[in-house]
Amino acid sequence: MSKTVVVFNRPLEETLKAKLEQHFEVADYSHLKDPSEDPGFLEALGRAEGAIGSSLKFGQALIDRAPNLKVVSSISVGVDNFDVEALSRRGILLCHTPDVLTETTADTGFALIMATARRVVELADWVRDGQWKESLTPARFGVDVQGATLGVVGMGRIGAAIARRGKFGFNMRVLYHNRSRNQEYEGEIGVEYCELDALLEQSDFVCVTVPFSKQTEKMFGKREFELMGPKTIFVNIARGGVVDEPALIEALEQGTIRAAGLDVFVKEPIPADNPLPRMRNVVALPHIGSATDATRYAMAELAVDNLVRGLAGERPKAPYNWKDLDRD
Ligand code: NAP
Repeated sequence: MSKTVVVFNRPLEETLKAKLEQHFEVADYSHLKDPSEDPGFLEALGRAEGAIGSSLKFGQALIDRAPNLKVVSSISVGVDNFDVEALSRRGILLCHTPDVLTETTADTGFALIMATARRVVELADWVRDGQWKESLTPARFGVDVQGATLGVVGMGRIGAAIARRGKFGFNMRVLYHNRSRNQEYEGEIGVEYCELDALLEQSDFVCVTVPFSKQTEKMFGKREFELMGPKTIFVNIARGGVVDEPALIEALEQGTIRAAGLDVFVKEPIPADNPLPRMRNVVALPHIGSATDATRYAMAELAVDNLVRGLAGERPKAPYNWKDLDRD
């Protein structure tokens, strides 16, 4: 009998689903918004050796319902929805989709830098509302991106792609902060390592690209916004949880920082009572980081490949917890 794999939350393109069906019996629950309490899904998960999808809280409770599970393939690079320790304890391999979304996500980050600096959304709305009746006055001017200082917090794959855009496309000085220095990027791009506080004080734009973890939870709060100051623009394309959102709202209301470009929020979709999308100095996007046809396809394709290889006992292209499983 062929192995069962379950698909959750993210529908797969027909060609990719067909590829899975060549190898497995596919139980597709991707049409459900949250399958975690659906009896059919839980029954299929109970039989499944593989699971593929994204944006589902995959913690101990679901892992306990999956006694045969061997590989989980996430269609995302961030793995903060998964209890990685619990998966590793059970010997379950977790795979993800790095690299294929790097450039597209960096484009989103840079779009937010440009839109907030030049007030693109606010002024386009102003024109649409028929308010453009005389020449623009300084009250509506923006700030320059070219030649400014960009601080990247999380100089990994996506951070480096943003740094290249800033350095080579916009002649920016680029500072970065990580837990460890990255001399490869220092040499290749010319980025300068900085302690976090110094980066916040010196940057005109702070762009966040760290993974969400216990260490990065609420990494940006009142103190950090005060260090940035009233000329700084804050851009978050990482995860909403890296920010203390009430502190960000207060900093934007009081002019502690100049503006914010946000692709991610603590609660998504944003609840109606969250004021951020309605603030004049905020550009809010609905988590579009990797959302182009080509990139979403490439992510799903890699995730399917990871699952097929993982369940065949091979090393997938992008295993996340390979070392934790003592595989080599
Ligand atoms: P990556 O290559 O692993 O880069 C992450 C960087 O963050 C690393 O350089 C790491 O360096 C640094 N870092 C980790 N913990 C840190 C901490 N506590 N303090 C300071 N720096 C820290 O990952 P990536 O592929 O660039 O992706 C980054 C994140 O972007 C993902 O985890 C995901 O959450 C987010 N993302 C969002 C979207 C979207 O749609 N908006 C799309 C894709 C990805 P050290 O280990 O040296 O600290």
